[in-house]
Amino acid sequence: MTAKKALKFDYVIIGNSAAGIGAVEGIRNVDAKGSIAIISDERYHTYSRPLISYYLGKKVTSDSNMYYRPKGFYKHHGVEALLGRKVVSIDKRIKELVLADGTKIAFKKLMVATGGAPFVPPIKDLEGEDVYTFTTWDEAKKVAKAAGPDTTAVVIGGGLIGLKAAEGLIEIGVKVTIVELADRIFSTILDVKGSKMFETHLKNLGSKVITGDTVTAIKRKAESGKREKGKGKEDRVTGVVLKSGKEIACDMVIVAIGVVPNTALAKTAGIKMERGIIVDGHLRTSEKDIYAAGDVVETFDVLRKVRRPQPIWPNAYTQGYAAGLNMAGFIFEYEGSFGMNSVEVCGLPTITVGMYDAAGKGFEEIVKSGPEKDSYKKIILKDDRIVGAVFVGDIDRAGIVTGLIKDRVKVSDFKKYLLTDEFGYAVFPKELRKERLYK
Ligand SMILES: Cc1cc2nc3c(=O)[nH]c(=O)nc-3n(C[C@H](O)[C@H](O)[C@H](O)COP(=O)(O)OP(=O)(O)OC[C@H]3O[C@@H](n4cnc5c(N)ncnc54)[C@H](O)[C@@H]3O)c2cc1C
Repeated sequence: MTAKKALKFDYVIIGNSAAGIGAVEGIRNVDAKGSIAIISDERYHTYSRPLISYYLGKKVTSDSNMYYRPKGFYKHHGVEALLGRKVVSIDKRIKELVLADGTKIAFKKLMVATGGAPFVPPIKDLEGEDVYTFTTWDEAKKVAKAAGPDTTAVVIGGGLIGLKAAEGLIEIGVKVTIVELADRIFSTILDVKGSKMFETHLKNLGSKVITGDTVTAIKRKAESGKREKGKGKEDRVTGVVLKSGKEIACDMVIVAIGVVPNTALAKTAGIKMERGIIVDGHLRTSEKDIYAAGDVVETFDVLRKVRRPQPIWPNAYTQGYAAGLNMAGFIFEYEGSFGMNSVEVCGLPTITVGMYDAAGKGFEEIVKSGPEKDSYKKIILKDDRIVGAVFVGDIDRAGIVTGLIKDRVKVSDFKKYLLTDEFGYAVFPKELRKERLYK
């Protein structure tokens, strides 16, 4: 019997999300003809992961509104989409990868955009029914099926994913308790004041927020007859036990502590990594023809001056796009990124960019609390350049500030206006105004 021949493509992309789609668009901007395959173990047309909480909360009700690109995207770009297919190994020596069904795929250039994997801590009796992570559309569908107005849920983790899960649940009437190990929710993206505003907001909506504590065990009770036929006796979740000894009754648990770079595949292929895959300024890994982008990599944080994973959607897309340009032969230097979060949880819009607190000597803070108790703004400066901003409740003009951070514009001439009502392009010196408006 002859061995099955490998499929061959000029470009192969593993991951069909922000970074993978960015790569397709980067490649096609340079190379209109090269063959491209995109592979994902998720079975869906490319969708916006941040929308899964809106799906759960029934704010997005049609599949097409979940899609990140129109239905004809792959065809339009001449891309072979291999969806619902898992890559199990990469042989960098012969430039070939293998799918779970045994299919071999040869590549000239490979892009690893495998994203993040949910971090699941060791918790007693976590394995089993009624416990979910919240990082995929499929997982959101499972939660949506199991949850309703009579459900009570414990969300473990008060970061971006946990709060978005909580929002979706609140929207459909679920009673939610958020348990966060740190001393405040949103602790990695917001300062103390902003976090407290969020906590108060959630409590006003009827949710409970417990900080400085964590879940150590899940309580389960054997029950029969409630599940699908053939599944037999199931141990349903009845509550959680916290480190403090406190117990909370609930019907479901969402583990939403965060994501870690999904590096398993690249690691076994011998690609160099630390916390995430290490890439150079062209998004190239330690292997000449293998690139990587998105939540799976660590990149240079231009504001904090360290290399670290920066798992947010716009960074994943931009890195993927830059990698795509380079893969196709257009030399493009990606200088790094910075943390930026734009979220609206239960009607409280927030934008945080870069640093959220002054980091010692040489930093300066400008703070403004709005007349409404739900509005607060802060800007952090170093050497007359903005290195961070927090906007809670009132996100007006956050876009202009983000642009100034991104391009590291000196703001000394108009610093006094930054958080005033007059702030806008009009207060910029003429040359800068022209340049910003042009941008
Ligand atoms: C609930 C939630 C809300 C979020 N909200 C926001 C937000 O408001 N703003 C924001 O900026 N960011 C948000 N994020 C983060 C954002 O979604 C990620 O930064 C972004 O999705 C990263 O894109 P990526 O392409 O790197 O990887 P991912 O989106 O993680 O996609 C990687 C893909 O690769 C597939 N894959 C992995 N391994 C294999 C394999 N071996 N074979 C085949 N396929 C594989 C995965 O299944 C997945 O489909 C949110 C994330 C979640 C989970």
